Amino acid sequence: MMKKTRLSFSSLKIDEKDKKENKIPVHNTPHGYIKGPARQSAGGEYKKKITKSSTYQYTQKRFGKSSSSRPFGGKNQYKISSGKIPPPDKGVIRIIPLGGVEEIGKNMTAIEIGDDIILIDAGMHFSNELTPGVDYVIPNTTYLEERKDKIRALFITHGHLDHIGGVPLVLSRIGNPPVYSRNLSMLMMKKRQAEFPHLPALKENLVEKDSVVTCGKIKVRFFGVTHTIPDSMGVIIETEHGWIVNPGDYKLDQVDGVVSKEEEKEYSIFDKAKILLLMTDSTNIENEGFSLPEIKVHQGLENLIKKIPGRIIIAAFSSHITRLAHIVKVAEALGKKIAIDGRSMKTNIEVAIEAGFFAPKKGTIIPLEETNNYPPNKIVVLMTGAQGEEFAALNRAANKSNAKFSLHKGDTIILSASIVPGNELAVVKMRDGLSRQGVRVISYRTAGEDFVHATGHGNQEDVRWLHLKTHPKFFIPIHGNHYRLVLHKELAMELGMSEENIIVPDNGSIIEISADGKKMTMRKEQAPSGAMLVDGTSISDTQDVVIRDRQMLSQDGMFVIIALLDQKTGKLKKSPDLISRGFVYLKENQELLRQVRIIIKNGVENFTTKIPVSSHGGKVVDLDIIKANLGESISKFLYQKTAKRPLVIPVILSV
Ligand SMILES: [Zn+2]
Ligand SMILES: [Zn+2]
Repeated sequence: MMKKTRLSFSSLKIDEKDKKENKIPVHNTPHGYIKGPARQSAGGEYKKKITKSSTYQYTQKRFGKSSSSRPFGGKNQYKISSGKIPPPDKGVIRIIPLGGVEEIGKNMTAIEIGDDIILIDAGMHFSNELTPGVDYVIPNTTYLEERKDKIRALFITHGHLDHIGGVPLVLSRIGNPPVYSRNLSMLMMKKRQAEFPHLPALKENLVEKDSVVTCGKIKVRFFGVTHTIPDSMGVIIETEHGWIVNPGDYKLDQVDGVVSKEEEKEYSIFDKAKILLLMTDSTNIENEGFSLPEIKVHQGLENLIKKIPGRIIIAAFSSHITRLAHIVKVAEALGKKIAIDGRSMKTNIEVAIEAGFFAPKKGTIIPLEETNNYPPNKIVVLMTGAQGEEFAALNRAANKSNAKFSLHKGDTIILSASIVPGNELAVVKMRDGLSRQGVRVISYRTAGEDFVHATGHGNQEDVRWLHLKTHPKFFIPIHGNHYRLVLHKELAMELGMSEENIIVPDNGSIIEISADGKKMTMRKEQAPSGAMLVDGTSISDTQDVVIRDRQMLSQDGMFVIIALLDQKTGKLKKSPDLISRGFVYLKENQELLRQVRIIIKNGVENFTTKIPVSSHGGKVVDLDIIKANLGESISKFLYQKTAKRPLVIPVILSV
């Protein structure tokens, strides 16, 4: 996902030095740029000379309370307590999807039985246009924070970020319970945890797909599933009324609909078991047939690596470790060298080697800058950036900003990934850059037998197979937007499940299985589910004023007024400075600015000249009132003149 360029608000902070000198170095230039650092007061004891500025906008309608958009679901914001929700009654099994429904990403499910809560996955998703500038989003943990003493364990199905990305911050908020996963997922979590050195270490518990563990009174077992990352597993929770099954992300290892023996064996544990509830992935519920098996992609890539004469550059998801390992093995067998470009690609390959998934010979992997020392047909480069991400390796190669690597005519680029919805434009732009350099591009859409990409999620037939194999009594579709969950529900009903046995949840829905496992219902209360936005080192929600400001700025820009008030006379010392960013081009709007200056001057002076001079020889002026009046009148005026609602920031300095 592309990171948007940020408008630096940190530069709007006055520092101690400037405070002492009482110097506010703000300059207005005709084109609206600030020369030198723009500053605003830090308020507090400094109020006498300058007031803290606040912002005004003509109307709050679009972003205020009336907004009906629920970007991440959940009317509740994360600060709202869930303390009033009573614990589940005896014999009741409570299931709460805390993330991953109403969306694809930040998967997390809580299961509460008696005094025990166990969790499955703690993912993240990247920010989007609704959360400008935010680093990423994690599930709401309020319900868990208020029941920390009941939390026994977090189980991780596999090492993708939508399942592990929230782990460090989630764990730190819920009392750091023990974490259970298979080896590779644990290594990936440890890499991520290392980015948060101030947080307590992971309480690691390695399990294998045939392990059985007991957490509190709950017995949990696992089974292996096929996905694009090794060590993926499903989780089974044993209850007195049968098993709760969550396979995590999966597709079937099959060719032409014939499921492999290994896969059949993994799932055979369900043959005689009583399955109370299935909760499973809805990502590809719209896709007909079976998912293309990964083996076809391996064959396709192998064919291409054999027959392409020049250098080969393969851009893939760095998380598709199974595929990357296969590419390295094939290239090595053909006597080719591998270079790696992109931080996440390097990290993941290191982790996979550490976990023992493949062991390239010494010298097979070479530094990127040495690729030119070998003949073109001896080089395969693995890169990040198949989605056209602005700063990823392939895009830097496409726009010639990659210092260590440049493309040559005759190179072949293989885009071994589908385009994630929303990234289409970025990919088009990148492909333009690539084709200007005379390279050939093979994508998953290129016709032919050599497949270069397959999804990691099951299509309709994989999903059907799983339902039939697990024959559950109840079903909760997860991992998908609402409409996908509904399609998944329809598929389950097609297979004969009755509607009252299926619940399509929202994030925070509290679902209970009661009456000796005979009934599944949704409580009227909801666990808090507002998205928790991770922004630098802070966590906030979508209603946060910072995020709202960013949304406004991204729509209509900002308009800063700086006026210098003479406290003795109550008059402005000079014509006010005006700064605009992302609003209108000041140079071409001189008339508008002239009128704004008049409004400011009149607005301020009409107010201040009426104030009598005090015994100290100056006027006691409440700058906050002036600012509020100015903010309102200017934002209204700008809206009338331009039909735009910039964020207006009045700053009044009194001397
Ligand atoms: Zn996954
Ligand atoms: Zn996933």
